[in-house]
Amino acid sequence: MTFVATQLLSPRPRFRTATRVAIVGAGFSGTMLALNLLEQADVEVLLIERDRQRMGAGVAYSSSESAHLLNVRAGNMSAFADKPDHFCDWLAARGLGCDAAFVTRATYGRYLREALAGAMEKYGRRLKLVDDEVLDIAERGGQVTLGLVNGGLIEADRAVLAIGNLPPHDPPAIAGAHLPSHRYIGDPWASAFEEGLEKDAPVLVIGTGLTAVDVILRLVTHGHEGPITALSRRGLRPHRHIDGLRPKPILAKPAPELSELVAWGRAESRVRDWRLVVDSIRPITQMMWASADAEKRARFLRHLRPFWDVHRHRLAPEVADRIDALVASGQLDFRAGKIADVAVEPDALAVSWRPRGGDEPVVTRAARMINCTGPQGDLLRSTDPLVKRMLSAKRIRPDALRLGLDIDRDGHVVDAKGQPSEHILAIGPMTRGDLWEVVAVPDIRIQVSALARRLVNAHWTGGEGL
Ligand SMILES: Cc1cc2nc3c(=O)[nH]c(=O)nc-3n(C[C@H](O)[C@H](O)[C@H](O)COP(=O)(O)OP(=O)(O)OC[C@H]3O[C@@H](n4cnc5c(N)ncnc54)[C@H](O)[C@@H]3O)c2cc1C
Repeated sequence: MTFVATQLLSPRPRFRTATRVAIVGAGFSGTMLALNLLEQADVEVLLIERDRQRMGAGVAYSSSESAHLLNVRAGNMSAFADKPDHFCDWLAARGLGCDAAFVTRATYGRYLREALAGAMEKYGRRLKLVDDEVLDIAERGGQVTLGLVNGGLIEADRAVLAIGNLPPHDPPAIAGAHLPSHRYIGDPWASAFEEGLEKDAPVLVIGTGLTAVDVILRLVTHGHEGPITALSRRGLRPHRHIDGLRPKPILAKPAPELSELVAWGRAESRVRDWRLVVDSIRPITQMMWASADAEKRARFLRHLRPFWDVHRHRLAPEVADRIDALVASGQLDFRAGKIADVAVEPDALAVSWRPRGGDEPVVTRAARMINCTGPQGDLLRSTDPLVKRMLSAKRIRPDALRLGLDIDRDGHVVDAKGQPSEHILAIGPMTRGDLWEVVAVPDIRIQVSALARRLVNAHWTGGEGL
């Protein structure tokens, strides 16, 4: 009797054997999957990260710039799906407020690193941090083997790709142009792009979205005083958040199709602030995406995506104020147009671009041109060693719209023949072809918590389904 009572009162079931899960990438997605797995079951987790500086925080939250703020309110940035106040409590314990606060990304990085350090202490040898790059993953005999850059091998029951976004591609007019590396910066996340730049030199930023805003703020924070032109096809800038708005999430689809949803959104925006309308549909956007076929999704990407992005992913008011002030001072200019040609001159790049709706090309001379077209997901254009190897071994394939990895509904990667892998899964922004809205913390925390539950439940039931 005592035995049964102990079992019933036990907070977690005991599993027959410990599962070993290898997670590739220790940004928000990989780190939080690790923590969810460890919390839910008696598993062993190997968290593998190739860039030591990013362990636990990833690309977004490794920034040490005080000008880089979260673009989601602190109140909605808990790392745990089942503990909505976790981040606010963490802030409060450090004497920081939470109401409508857009804290720095560096602060959020500290929060994630502390959570990881806490897990190291709590779970001991069940959590191993591996400072290495995964070059290949093969499945054999019901297991996965991960090949590392240093020649080592890791064996596990499952491998989960949490590799984040792929670096940006060069815009078509620049691809293959062999521009000098001190003049053209192809990937701002992988470069100290402000170094060696004269403080009054002209800069051309390609892109006008969140990445462009980040880069512009970093330039001016580091003392840049020269003119900055930000150029994109439509010249659309991210809108700003407004304090004090409380969206009421809707739980049922207000319209059957994506196109009708836009019409619904426009009508609703006549009676309440459009931000409330956009934020209210968050719980149903994945559902809307799932019910749209490939053609409708492609149409959305072609016609609506740029507008969706600037309305959905907004700037903290302080950030928007700084950008507005730079525009008002004349230092920053947003333009709409398409680059036609780039010529290398002795002290600059001469960038010829055609303004939107106009015929006459404009030439902008820039001492530095920075590609801020944003993260990408097209595997076929990737130079990432792991992605290239897995593609050439036909173990992964792009999703139908080339937004990332093709996965099945449980998160397994799908191979070149359309067969889901039994042991390799993916999470985070590279799964946006399947889920669309899975690039920000509020969505990824739900994805990783659900995957952790499925992984351990699958083990509990003998591996069926996963
Ligand atoms: C600049 C920026 C700001 C953002 N701001 C916000 C925000 O304010 N709020 C919000 O909700 N969302 C924000 N986001 C969205 C953000 O993408 C997600 O919140 C989340 O950080 C994504 O994490 P990730 O772990 O999937 O990817 P990443 O953070 O990119 O982490 C992936 C990690 O995998 C590693 N890796 C890749 N390949 C290998 C390999 N082969 N071997 C070993 N390691 C590998 C990389 O080094 C990297 O550290 C922002 C994104 C960016 C880029």
